[in-house]
Amino acid sequence: MAAPEFITDMEPDAEGVPKPATTVFLIGKECPFRCLMCDLWKNTVETPSPPGALIAQLQSILPQIQHRHTIKLYNASNFFDPQAVPRSERNELARLVKEFELVVVENHPKLMSSQVVEFASQLSGQLQVAMGLETADETILAWLNKQMTLRDYDRACGFLLENGISIRTFILLPAPGVKGDEVVAHTVASVRHALDCGSHVTSLIPLRAGNGIMDWLMDQNVVQLPTLNLVADTFAASIKLPRKKEQRVLLDLWNLAALAGEGVDPVSICNQLEQMNLKQA
Ligand code: SF4
Repeated sequence: MAAPEFITDMEPDAEGVPKPATTVFLIGKECPFRCLMCDLWKNTVETPSPPGALIAQLQSILPQIQHRHTIKLYNASNFFDPQAVPRSERNELARLVKEFELVVVENHPKLMSSQVVEFASQLSGQLQVAMGLETADETILAWLNKQMTLRDYDRACGFLLENGISIRTFILLPAPGVKGDEVVAHTVASVRHALDCGSHVTSLIPLRAGNGIMDWLMDQNVVQLPTLNLVADTFAASIKLPRKKEQRVLLDLWNLAALAGEGVDPVSICNQLEQMNLKQA
């Protein structure tokens, strides 16, 4: 199996200090959920990974990571789905990342269980569980085929907080079907919901095409990708929301320059957005 890709960027920690954060894209079994906008299956395999494959992938990457601040183990599925990450392998993965200050994994709100708490207890640092809320609009959430309701997300947040586990939330910018003038208010409302539920890191993910169904919906004019200016305006409005000191609102900067229209200088806007991420202002 190929070695996983990884990237390192800077993120403000709970004190607002920029720290290196490395995302490792583990290659495992395809997610059983079928969310409308998801393109993560591109980095998966159809059958369960051979025993030990995820551990071997992580072992191949760790020597290349010089810091021990944040590591994100993203497996393009749900970390606590035993089909994706067998429990026995989770124990070894926990041992391998034990020294990191913050370990982030992705999980669907309906897959919270005592195994999440068990994994957290095996770390010296803090566990953070990332969930795709995408939107706080129930109707759009159902249309996205997330197989979850707002209540499921709220309940998952309560469970994580009760167990001392940190929360990361992904919000789509914009949620599919939300257009034009509505985008800023709609997205800000979703961020507010996540903050109210105690999300420690709420990350805006600019909508992207390329999974087939999203491209078709764009052709039908049901879905529009945001412009870079709209992304900047929405992020600026979201970051102004009242929140606790340790709550951060971030913008995913991946491939953002591609959203720049004619006559827009993507470099200066992207630099500004990066500074807003780091300074949270
Ligand atoms: S739960 Fe996550 S990985 Fe699975 S289909 Fe939905 S967005 Fe993709």
